[in-house]
Amino acid sequence: MLLPLPLAGAYDYRVPEGLAVPPPGSFVEVPLGGREVAGVVWDGEADPTLPASRLKPLLRVFDCPAMTAPLRRLVDWIASYTLSPPGAVLRMTMSAPSALEPAAPTAGWRRADPPPPAARISPARARVLALVADGAPHAGGLLAEAAGVGPGVVRGMASAGLLEPALLPPDARFARPDPAHQGSVLTEGQADAARALRAAVAEHGFSVTLLAGVTGSGKTEVYLEAVAEALRAGRQALVLLPEIALSTQWLDRFSARFGCAPALWHSELTPRTRRDTWRAVAEGAAPVVVGARSALFLPFPDLGTIIVDEEHETSFKQEEGVVYSARDMAVVRARLTRAAAVLVSATPSLETLTNAEAGRYRLLHLPLRHGAAGLPQVSAIDLRTCPPERGRFLSPALVEAVNATIARGEQAMLFLNRRGYAPLTLCRACGHRMRCPNCTAWLVEHRLQRRLQCHHCGHAEPIPPACPACGAEGTLAAVGPGVERVQEEAAEVFPDARRIVMASDTIAGPAAASEAARRIVDREVDLIIGTQIVAKGWNFPDLTLVGVVDADLGLAGGDLRAAERTVQLLHQVSGRAGRADAPGHVLLQTWNPEHPVMQALIGGDLDAFMRAEADQRRPGHWPPFGRLAALIVSSEDEAAADRAARDLGRAAPQGDGFEVLGPAPAPLALLRGRHRRRLLLKARRDIAVQPILHEWLARVPVSNQVRVQVDVDPVGF
Ligand code: ADP
Ligand code: ZN
Repeated sequence: MLLPLPLAGAYDYRVPEGLAVPPPGSFVEVPLGGREVAGVVWDGEADPTLPASRLKPLLRVFDCPAMTAPLRRLVDWIASYTLSPPGAVLRMTMSAPSALEPAAPTAGWRRADPPPPAARISPARARVLALVADGAPHAGGLLAEAAGVGPGVVRGMASAGLLEPALLPPDARFARPDPAHQGSVLTEGQADAARALRAAVAEHGFSVTLLAGVTGSGKTEVYLEAVAEALRAGRQALVLLPEIALSTQWLDRFSARFGCAPALWHSELTPRTRRDTWRAVAEGAAPVVVGARSALFLPFPDLGTIIVDEEHETSFKQEEGVVYSARDMAVVRARLTRAAAVLVSATPSLETLTNAEAGRYRLLHLPLRHGAAGLPQVSAIDLRTCPPERGRFLSPALVEAVNATIARGEQAMLFLNRRGYAPLTLCRACGHRMRCPNCTAWLVEHRLQRRLQCHHCGHAEPIPPACPACGAEGTLAAVGPGVERVQEEAAEVFPDARRIVMASDTIAGPAAASEAARRIVDREVDLIIGTQIVAKGWNFPDLTLVGVVDADLGLAGGDLRAAERTVQLLHQVSGRAGRADAPGHVLLQTWNPEHPVMQALIGGDLDAFMRAEADQRRPGHWPPFGRLAALIVSSEDEAAADRAARDLGRAAPQGDGFEVLGPAPAPLALLRGRHRRRLLLKARRDIAVQPILHEWLARVPVSNQVRVQVDVDPVGF
């Protein structure tokens, strides 16, 4: 028995008389410390030294499809790879406990038989009637969606007696995407790639394919054909997207391709939808799920393909609790369940590129942008020779380009990957800087909310009227730009431009995202000002200019991966420009136009950049040419954190092919009130780090004031 609790391992229970022994994977209820908890019958033998009389009986077996063997193996695999308790991993798969009980039937509609003779049949009503002609019950929402009518039409038909209430079997609540609904006419290159992906899915075996190709080359069109193939084979498909709540344009395309929306999975679902979706997935009634990384742990009985779109995104890494990479675990799940994994990106991570080059992954490449426009032309604005005016952030060259774009009737975007008004507030009298009391971080001014905020722990305080250090009044000054400040400057410089700010403070959920997208596509906006949420996925046909306000922003700090990530982000945001017929331009404001990152973006040769990156990392065995694991030692007591980190450092394992670096302050040395130190274990690729970490951690006792978190394959190093 494995219980979804952060305990060590499996527990033994006794099967009471009269109950058949439930097979592995069965969901069962057992007593635990005076409570009843749900768990899963795990594989393996019970401990023979425990007499049956000492074991507690299991209470009941849930009426729920059992957890499949591949999913059980995934739980074991992740637990051992990340050094997490299996119960903690199991809990991620049991994310809707109430779904273990069978779904109660819910209300739906079916055709009234016979129909009322006098009822009026409008064209909208006729479309609904065609859908209910089968006499079966249908969910009201799905009916309206499939018929392309508002929910009021269905209600009106019910009151007119054309539809009558009927209980809906649980599996009718999710629509079945139709692979034959409405495919795009693919270009030759796209069609080749689609054929290769369809073949990979049809193999019914494990494969990993990297689908690379510039932004706008039709990667989405192509991988939807892998989904279609899984559907044709009667199997399921999972698509992982980095920003599911903002992916409304993506969902519209899915509906256009398959005739209905997919099931969604993310943290904002209502408990009811969560429950229904989990259960529908387990019963095979939800054939396609689109979700955030947690969707990887849904109980698909027969997954044909797993697609990871924007595979290079660091948001696929979970940093709390079980620390794992959803991209990498998607590949593991595909292997265990014999499915086709598809990793998709215009700027693949060095990990994935290296795997493709080594032949471990198949490579499909779409070299051309779809449509007439071609790739945007990227150039730098050298801030040393073309600086903005004092206290401003938009250089004259950028202002002119925006004006010219808007004058041509096209749209422009200003991109700055920083929320709020200003990243630093300091006192002009004494130099005091406003910092977070809980983190190694400056407080960011959010002028709209009149507050200073920490972007790491959520700490917020009002902007003080006087400097808290010297008491001087009116001396606190905002230093540096945030997106709100760019908006303020834009309002002065482009007073007639119709502007929209897209940041997580202003575009919080799907409704706001789709309204913003509609306004932009419908040309109600001339200038988009946004943070990284505008970088990905959007298709704004009339957007032809992207101005990057601070292209150097991501390069500060000592992270070896900063350059790779900056190239990926800036390339992504550049890809928003010129997606239809008019050519796109990208202007990078930088103090360092010679930097390899700027040169790669300007020259458009990302391959050469990635090769240079690889050449830098290879000799030192840095990932992906070696293995890396981080130990984050943290405590509210700084001395305790230091002591534990030093103890671990002194007891560091030694051997051939690996070394321990540190301890050193972790990248955020203080986070949420905890002092953090970091040790890195760096090893050759052929060495497994887990046994080394295991042995090391078992040897060094740490006080209970101290937490040691293991992060295998850390995102930053
Ligand atoms: P990517 O995922 O590579 O960024 P998309 O699949 O989003 O590219 O395609 C970019 C744009 O081009 C989208 O608006 C898409 O609908 C359009 N497009 C791509 N291929 C085709 C095609 N074969 N027929 C029609 N439109 C296409
Ligand atoms: Zn903080």
